[in-house]
Amino acid sequence: MVPRRPSREGQIGFIYSPPYRVQGISVAGEQTILQVPELDLNFDIGMCPRVALPASYVALSHAHMDHLGGLPYYFSQRFFQKLGKGTCICHPDLVDPIRRMMKSWVDLEAQETPHEIIGLAPGDEFQLRKDVFLRGFEVNHTRSSMGYLVVEKRSKLKEEFRDMPQNRLRELKASGTEITRMIEVPLVACSGDTSPGDFLVSDEFANAKIILCECTFFDSDHRERAKTGHHIHVEDFKKMLLESWKAQDVVITHISRRSDMNRVRQIVAGMSEEYSNGSVHMLMDHRTNRERYESQKEEFLKEQS
Ligand SMILES: [Zn+2]
Ligand SMILES: [Zn+2]
Repeated sequence: MVPRRPSREGQIGFIYSPPYRVQGISVAGEQTILQVPELDLNFDIGMCPRVALPASYVALSHAHMDHLGGLPYYFSQRFFQKLGKGTCICHPDLVDPIRRMMKSWVDLEAQETPHEIIGLAPGDEFQLRKDVFLRGFEVNHTRSSMGYLVVEKRSKLKEEFRDMPQNRLRELKASGTEITRMIEVPLVACSGDTSPGDFLVSDEFANAKIILCECTFFDSDHRERAKTGHHIHVEDFKKMLLESWKAQDVVITHISRRSDMNRVRQIVAGMSEEYSNGSVHMLMDHRTNRERYESQKEEFLKEQS
């Protein structure tokens, strides 16, 4: 008997939600890394596929190995490939343990790997670029777990000045009158690992253009398992989707390998049909996502010609 060849693995999930790409790998208990290249950001880094390297930031949701394990490798490879120092943003409680982990690598490798660890308390913000901020919020999974929101802050003309001519506005501004106000546009929301909670139906989460949300369990007899592991079951997911969320694209991550994928695909297609604000995708459904991407490309070419 000739032994079977090892299985091919590590295919990168990919969804194009204009103008953003969502790419990465996410399987419950194995690894999760979700990247939005346009934001220069990875959410989590369970392992470190090549695709994770170019993003300068990792927003860590919690310290389970399948979400954190790739971090030292990420720092190291970024350094070797001259991509600049990588930065990890995490719950303040995790800063010291992660620094100690990186210190152990210095002892093991007898060399320093440049890196940056930044603590972000729930509710606080980290500036990703000029008008774009990363905000953490507390979730319910293991100790020191967070989800994240990426928000854009835009200044907008106040209502009362809307019909005023430009020269008058300039005068007002020059005289020190505040003619604009800041508005926040939630761009991307990421649940991290968590059981359902109000934080997943808050205004800012529900209104994000793209929602990346875990949905670990789909079988009806896995409800208990979801509860014990502090994860989301599809029944709860569906409720949040249909009653609260407004995203143009909702991406399901962290599906358990125990699930029957054909059944899961059917359930997701059904939910997507019912969801009137946009569509629902599974990050790791490569065939469906490829077909969607091909038709997006075709549409684009048609518009161009
Ligand atoms: Zn996980
Ligand atoms: Zn976890």
